[in-house]
Amino acid sequence: MKNANRNILIAAILGITLGFLIKNFSDASFYQPFMGLIDLLGQLFIKALKMILVPLVFFSIVVGISNLGSAKNADRIWKLTLSYYFLTMAIAVILALFMMNLIKPGVGLNIQLWEMQHDIASQTMSFYDFFNQFILGLFSNPFESLATGNILPIIIFSIFIGVAFNGSNKKMIAGRQLFESFYEVILKIVQWIMVLAPIGIFALLLKLVESQSFELFNKLGIFIGTVIAIILIHGIIILPLINYVFTRINLKELWVKGRPAFITAFATSSSSATLPITMSVAQQDFKVRKTVSNFVLPLGATINMDGTALYEAAAALFIANLVGIDLALTQQIILFFIAMVASIGAPGIPSAGMVTMAMVLQVLGLPLEALAILLPMDRLLDTFRTTINVEGDLIGSLIVNKLA
Ligand code: ASP
Repeated sequence: MKNANRNILIAAILGITLGFLIKNFSDASFYQPFMGLIDLLGQLFIKALKMILVPLVFFSIVVGISNLGSAKNADRIWKLTLSYYFLTMAIAVILALFMMNLIKPGVGLNIQLWEMQHDIASQTMSFYDFFNQFILGLFSNPFESLATGNILPIIIFSIFIGVAFNGSNKKMIAGRQLFESFYEVILKIVQWIMVLAPIGIFALLLKLVESQSFELFNKLGIFIGTVIAIILIHGIIILPLINYVFTRINLKELWVKGRPAFITAFATSSSSATLPITMSVAQQDFKVRKTVSNFVLPLGATINMDGTALYEAAAALFIANLVGIDLALTQQIILFFIAMVASIGAPGIPSAGMVTMAMVLQVLGLPLEALAILLPMDRLLDTFRTTINVEGDLIGSLIVNKLA
């Protein structure tokens, strides 16, 4: 595991460096033929993670919850987890609101919203549509959700099975043991996929850097810089501090042991795809109990998104700046809540935050055309926000593990 961890770091550095070099110092006709292969390797890694994701979520939650029920502290785990999610997301959004009000990166920029080319009509959704869809979407045919990889209803169904499995008669015990065996098998496959991780991460990061358009920075550099700064403050100072206070795990240890999960999140822009690695890191390196990690992490990958929440708030204020609307305090309070709802509703997949962003803009009466400004920089900013989304989940499991 130690070697794998180091290899992932080396692969990430190599991928970024090579991507930067070929983009700036080499002729596209020279390296383009290889990009197909690079793309294939990156996609293969993501596909392998996604392959294991659904069975992992299903079995881990059933195993976690069915063991939890017998533990005295089940109630405490639930409450602690949800309080942690809520509090850290609230802190993230408050930080974003504070920084954006201070810096106001959109003021004075001259971007013609109406000239943007993207088709955004398909992305509009009112708050009520969104809310209804979210609540109704929690329950669905489990076979359909398992087949389509719809994580939230899988979580709900797995919780039902886990709770129903509580009981001390023979059949229940045998059933639980069967699920535990399957879960062990899934974990073994996750370890195999981890072997692929360095190659996949190298390929994904090379492609990411190579395909970035740095022209964006001319106009939007201050906004991009502000968002990255907010993310870094939250990810390097606030979250690690909260973690240290409760667990005494310092930033260095958090980074060194958590690195495979953070780097995978950065490379894949998907909390869900990263989940197998986050769980492996939590259980093997931080020794988080399964009753905690199996519940806190899958749920966190879907609903706990500090990075997405702070981004939704920051982007809405940026657009308001751009179009010259000053959001009053009451509107900023609405933004505080709606940014959290939007991030909870966003699935852990690339650019999910962009879809729920439409709802945030709509609730605040901001022009939806503004999405066209945000979309081109989304691939880049998604890498950063996904990394702290995953960091937030991992720290959640560490704190709950300590306190429950
Ligand atoms: N890509 C993010 C994640 O998977 C969600 C988002 O902010 O778009 O956590």
